[in-house]
Amino acid sequence: MFIGHFAVGFASKRVAPRSSLAVLLAAPLLADLLWPAFLLVGAERVEIHPSSNPFLNLTFVSYPWSHSLVMGLVWAALFAGIYFALTRYRTGAWVIAIGVVSHWVLDVVTHRPDMPVSPWGSTLLGFGLWESVPGTVAVESMMFIAGVWLYSTGTAARDRIGRYGWWGLVAFTVIGYLMNLFGSPPPTVTAIGWMGLALGILTAGWTWWADRHRIPTKASSVIRTTP
Ligand SMILES: [Zn+2]
Repeated sequence: MFIGHFAVGFASKRVAPRSSLAVLLAAPLLADLLWPAFLLVGAERVEIHPSSNPFLNLTFVSYPWSHSLVMGLVWAALFAGIYFALTRYRTGAWVIAIGVVSHWVLDVVTHRPDMPVSPWGSTLLGFGLWESVPGTVAVESMMFIAGVWLYSTGTAARDRIGRYGWWGLVAFTVIGYLMNLFGSPPPTVTAIGWMGLALGILTAGWTWWADRHRIPTKASSVIRTTP
């Protein structure tokens, strides 16, 4: 899953309006942000097998550290724990923890049976929504539209950066998804690793910048502190 994870991050702002969208987005994307680093150091493995179905170009041979349920719970506790220690914002910490674990749940729905439960076990899960391109695109697009709507209506732009920065991020994400769908598969695993890291850093910085120029509009969230 790709833009479905973004949807979770965008929607999270409604629940934790005082958290920066950058951390709320990094939580459901965390597994895919860690994965390129683990690929580059050789701790996880992927193979490129170009397929007529763009969702099946990659065969995830092994990714126990970024994509198992047990490690998901560990990353969730670490990320939420550090966030709470720095901000004392309990709601934000809980939303981050749930966001991190949501990645595993959503990937199990979309992936073929390659999602590990624990780093040491042999159980692999996956319901294979990716086998159906229209099905995947329909589910992810509906989630993404809902997420964009929830964030857009739950916040208001304070200036032009808040407006164009946010909609630019939405456009950038959609273009990335379309390139994934219609572009050619990545040339090498090393390219996946470096591209993944670069895109992760760019998206985090962009999100942090755009979100700082917007304010929550819901009555419960008028206090403007963005840790
Ligand atoms: Zn993933």
